[in-house]
Amino acid sequence: MAEETEIKIQNLTKFYMLVLLKSNDTVTGYFILKKLEKDLGKTASPTYVYDFLKSLKSQGYVKDVTKSKTSKRSKGYQLTSQGHEFIDRIFLRFNNLIEVAIQSRLEICASCGVRLYDNYHSEKIGGKDLNFCCKHCAKAFKNEQM
Ligand SMILES: [Zn+2]
Repeated sequence: MAEETEIKIQNLTKFYMLVLLKSNDTVTGYFILKKLEKDLGKTASPTYVYDFLKSLKSQGYVKDVTKSKTSKRSKGYQLTSQGHEFIDRIFLRFNNLIEVAIQSRLEICASCGVRLYDNYHSEKIGGKDLNFCCKHCAKAFKNEQM
């Protein structure tokens, strides 16, 4: 059996850190900590975040980039091309899982039945929070109810 040198992604915190690295040109540890807190409601320890960044760096997946010469705190991390490949492999492996997660979050317009993604219109009608694809569908729905 070949030696396993690949970094293991065994939890959502690490997975989300990869998402952040992939979707931003440069990230700082501070940025990651803030995003984890805001988007996942997770308070990760700085040590955990920096250790993971360090292990990514030792694999050659990220490199240090310093945004400002005057401040050590603004030390940023940027994916290398190997890092991009690594994350693509991870995402591929998680592909089915991600699809299920997205599907379960999908809702449909209460009026026309079209699938709703990020931008949709919510309105409280008859004491219930309902989602529509647009204001017009909400209006049509309300008219039907009367
Ligand atoms: Zn609609």
